[in-house]
Amino acid sequence: MEAPKTIAIDGPVAAGKTALGKALAEKLGYRFLDTGLMYRAVSWLAIQQGAGADNEGAVMRIAQTCPIRPIGDDGASMVIGEQILGEELRHPAVDLASSQVSTYQGVRSALVKQQKQIADEGPVVMAGRDIGTVVLPDAPLKLFIVASPEVRARRRYEEMRDLGKEVEFQEVLDDLLARDHRDESRDASPLKAAPDAVVLDTDGKTLCQVVQHALRIAEGVQ
Ligand code: C5P
Repeated sequence: MEAPKTIAIDGPVAAGKTALGKALAEKLGYRFLDTGLMYRAVSWLAIQQGAGADNEGAVMRIAQTCPIRPIGDDGASMVIGEQILGEELRHPAVDLASSQVSTYQGVRSALVKQQKQIADEGPVVMAGRDIGTVVLPDAPLKLFIVASPEVRARRRYEEMRDLGKEVEFQEVLDDLLARDHRDESRDASPLKAAPDAVVLDTDGKTLCQVVQHALRIAEGVQ
């Protein structure tokens, strides 16, 4: 059976949404959009322009006036205005700023509009926090990815160590719990599973197992 043409993936920080989304998109020949990178691109530009994440008006103007598009095949780079951004989007200052920037309703509306346009262009796997609930509420397949905070923090810690960053595990865990709290308690589109989402727990599973499971679900839907 054929997989649905629109697949929404949501879940908390480091649950494995991006790895799963990229792998699914590659297997199905769809486009992959990591919407977190769009919030990060707006945050990066706000920092560059000296506006800072606190300046809601300035951040909103950036989101409303600078189109953002994914570029390249790896789903890890974005173009905002004239700038191509990759590694910069993963800077810790951008982690922090994007967590705040994503609470602004004006920013969300501007980015959601662009995300819907991208979905209208063709088959897509889209990952984020509000894809199944707000961006693509009619997606035929919605996956909500979960894993325990310890497992997610361990993944993030290992990623950071691999990039040569000196961090303590406890620091990474505390930061992750704080970001979970902000994502779940914000007024604008808080993180939650859509009522018709399929919940996938990735604790103790390899990426390959999770992808196989998701593909079986995808092929059984429609
Ligand atoms: O997923 P990632 O950590 O890259 O997301 C960056 C920030 O953007 C996070 O603070 C997250 O809460 C926010 N975000 C969001 N809605 C999305 C995607 C990400 O609020 N659809």
